[in-house]
Amino acid sequence: MPELPEVETIVRGLAPVLRGRTVTGVWTSGLGLRLARAVDVRGLRAVSVGRVIADVGRRGKYITLVTRAKGVRDAEARGVCVHLGMTGRLRVQPADAPRAPHTHVVFSLDGGDELRFVDARRFGFVAPGDPLAALAALAILGPDPLAELDADALARALATSRAPIKAFLLDQSRVAGLGNIYVCEALFGARVHPRAEARRVRGRAAELLAAVRATLEGGIARRGTTLRDYVDADGFAGDNAAALQVYGREGEPCSRCGSAIRRRVDAARSTFFCARCQKR
Ligand SMILES: [Zn+2]
Repeated sequence: MPELPEVETIVRGLAPVLRGRTVTGVWTSGLGLRLARAVDVRGLRAVSVGRVIADVGRRGKYITLVTRAKGVRDAEARGVCVHLGMTGRLRVQPADAPRAPHTHVVFSLDGGDELRFVDARRFGFVAPGDPLAALAALAILGPDPLAELDADALARALATSRAPIKAFLLDQSRVAGLGNIYVCEALFGARVHPRAEARRVRGRAAELLAAVRATLEGGIARRGTTLRDYVDADGFAGDNAAALQVYGREGEPCSRCGSAIRRRVDAARSTFFCARCQKR
């Protein structure tokens, strides 16, 4: 599933192509997204057609397309919110290029291009935000670990939680944008055991935040982690998989101490860690 670095890579790829373009129409496949919920076509048209894409941004793992009527600045940002789910892809292509299978939402743009949302498994979503801040998915998000969170705020939040640190970091209302891969990597980087109680690691908030940031920034620098489906806005796989220290490396030697990386499964998610470097 795409996490913060993959979404950020896509946003950086799309922003220069989409900024300033006018949306001229919206098409949908008629199939529901995010577990078969219907797409709000009328709402999407209301926030996009005849409007200019003023900005392409990211909140946690969500992509936001802020639109504006020509020459008018809205009191609150309006536009479209996209979540890539498991297999979602967002690309700009010429309108006359064949549409990929599983294309579910298409925004026609001035100049003859289309912004296409393709999602084989349909766990993603494309929703109107009028305003964007009113979308529940965005409203619940905690601080962004790259742009907003600081060590003191993280320490205070950790102090209030008895959850395992891994679950704490995956909770989007605590920290926005992390998923299973980058949490495993960040905990390894900070030498924190994935099942350590959050409040017990509050004294290490600065190291933990530094590891989270280093992990995310490395992922962005290498244009995302491709295990199976993820591609960037130009359709290319990311290079970060080779840089992963623990994720997917069960049985391989730890890069720091040489002992075998372990995998354990909790709530159907795999956790990869080094039991020697990450003591409880
Ligand atoms: Zn180790």
